[in-house]
Amino acid sequence: MTLVRRSREERTKPRHHIEERVKLAKTFREEIIARRLLTGRLPRVSTAVIVGKPGDGGNCDGCDQPLSSPQLVMAVPFEKTFVHLHAGCFSIWNAIRPHTGEGKIS
Ligand SMILES: [Zn+2]
Repeated sequence: MTLVRRSREERTKPRHHIEERVKLAKTFREEIIARRLLTGRLPRVSTAVIVGKPGDGGNCDGCDQPLSSPQLVMAVPFEKTFVHLHAGCFSIWNAIRPHTGEGKIS
C-alpha cells in the first residue's frame, strides 16, 4: 500500500465511522451529535483539558437545549474556544467520536 493511499484511507475512515453512527442512532440526541461530528460543529478529538462545571446559561452545543446552572456541563477545547455539552451529551459525543487510544482519531 502506498503512503498516499494509506493516508487517504486514514482520513476517510473516521467519517465512515460517524456516518454509520448517524444511521445507527437510537435517539434524536445521539443522531444530532453524530451529525455535528460529521459536519465539524463538534470536535472529533478531545484533548486532556475537559472541565466539568455547573452550567451558566447558553445552550448545549450537542443538543441545543439550555445549560441550566445546576447541571454539570463539560467544556471541551475546540478551535481556540470551547464547546459546552451536558454531561449526558458529552458521554454520547465521547462514545460516537472516532478514536483509538487517548484522543487520537482512528
Ligand atoms: Zn445537550
